[in-house]
Order: sequence, then structure tokens, then C-alpha cells
Amino acid sequence: MPNIAYVNGEFIPTEYASISINDRGLQFGDAIYEVWAVINGKLLDEEGHFTRLNRSMNELAINNIFNKASLKIIFRELIARNRVKNGIIYLQISRGTAPRDHAFANDLVPNIIITARPKNFSQLEAKAQKGFHIKTTKDNRWGRVDIKTTNLLPNVLAKQNALDNNFDDVWFVDDNNFITEGSAQNAWIVKDKTIITRPLSNEILAGITRQSVLKLIQSLNLKIVERAFSIDELYNCDEAFVTSATSFVTPIIKVNGNNINDGKVGEVVKMLRKEYLSV
Ligand code: PMP
Repeated sequence: MPNIAYVNGEFIPTEYASISINDRGLQFGDAIYEVWAVINGKLLDEEGHFTRLNRSMNELAINNIFNKASLKIIFRELIARNRVKNGIIYLQISRGTAPRDHAFANDLVPNIIITARPKNFSQLEAKAQKGFHIKTTKDNRWGRVDIKTTNLLPNVLAKQNALDNNFDDVWFVDDNNFITEGSAQNAWIVKDKTIITRPLSNEILAGITRQSVLKLIQSLNLKIVERAFSIDELYNCDEAFVTSATSFVTPIIKVNGNNINDGKVGEVVKMLRKEYLSV
């Protein structure tokens, strides 16, 4: 069965789908994206991701010609056509097509690509039971990582470097030795029963899973503080974890070769993962 994508108004087998070589997303990374997890045919945090999609387009002044209701219908169609029970919806919108020039006209028609592909989350579940080993690296990204653009080269290179060195992932560290976030996840620690995560700013992406987990933490009456935490605090914390649409809540048990909680998955993260996936 061929994988079917949606590209600029058309459902088309991925192998035949195409986009102009003058697409600004291709040439400049002048594009934004969004990712939804599909669990048992349902989109997780569906509305939150739509809200951020609109924000991303506003921040880059990409013409927002898209309608949420229509996009939802396209998602359902892609889920059905690709028989996705569990998987990922990926949506990318570029500013549009024009002869290559840094400057852009305000009336460009955006290019949209949407794909739906199955993903076996049970493999991830097995890994999440064990916990991840991460490394840290200097945050060398641009100053507007709060916008979900496709400019992910620092994230891509840092992640690959982590994998090549037998780590599972990487966390970025700012100039003051404070953690910003993971390669594609928000970063959290737990110390003395207080859950700590960096507040929203231009230096991190406002994760939709982060937002949902914050609400969950409040509803469970756990203590939460939104503040930056340092790499030393990370080494000395009781538990650490990441959140994202595709990793949900995943424990970190080792940082740069140093165990956290004696290398065991902690109780808070275990509970948050279970609760998050049960809603
Ligand atoms: N930070 C970065 C850099 C990311 O790429 C992502 C995932 N797109 C996140 C955080 C988590 O965001 P979300 O929970 O919305 O997936």
C-alpha cells in the first residue's frame, strides 16, 4: 500500500509528490511545521498544536490561508488512507514559491505538505521503561527557537553526534550553564519533590506536551516551579525527564555518564508518563 501525502490541495502517493525547487522552505528554511501524535486513531493535544501552528505563521508573517476545520478533515483522510492507528501527523507550511531572493513579497501563496505515518510506540515504551542516557552540548541555535521553524540543523547535528557517541539524545546548555531544552523535547528535573522546568521565552519551544504536563502536575497537586536549572542541578537532581509529542514523558537516567537516581527511573516521572498517556 503506497503512503499517501497531501501536497498543495492534492492527495498523492509520497513517491509522486513534489514541490518546486523555488520553494522558500527548501532554499531558506523559510517554513514552519507541526507534529501531532496519533494514538488509537485520536490526535493527542489536537487543539494545542493548532494554536501553536497559527502562532508560528503569525511570527513569520506567512499568509495564513488555512482553515482549521479543513485541515482536520485532511488529517482524518490521511489517517484513514494510510491506515494509521498509532503514528504521527507531520504538517509543514513554507512561505511559498518565488525565484531565489532573500527578500519576499507579502502575497506569496504558501506550500503545504501533510503526511501521516504509522509509528510503533511500543518500542518507545520499552525504551522509556529503561530511561534515556543523554549528553549535554552548547546551545548554538538562533535567538528565536520559540518559533517552530524547519531550521533544525543545530538540533539535527547535535542529535546525530549524541547517537554516534552512544547516547540516546542531547540537551542544550546556555552560556550561563543552564539547560535550555532537548534536541526535540522540553527538559525537566525533580528535586526534593519539586518539579522544575525552564519558563517560556525565546530560548525554548513552548512544547504542547509541556503545557499539558504542567496542567496535569497542577491537577495532581504536585509542586511545580518554572525556572531555569543549571547543569550542576541536573547532576544532583532526584529525577529528570523530557516531554514532547512523540516521546510523551520519557525519563532520563544518566547525564554525560553520571547516574541520576542511581540510574533508576524515578517514581514521579513514571507516574506522569502513565497519567499523561491515560487522558
Ligand atoms: N523543544 C523542541 C526543540 C522541539 O523540537 C520539540 C518538539 N517539536 C519540543 C520542545 C516539544 O514540543 P511538543 O511537546 O509540542 O512536541
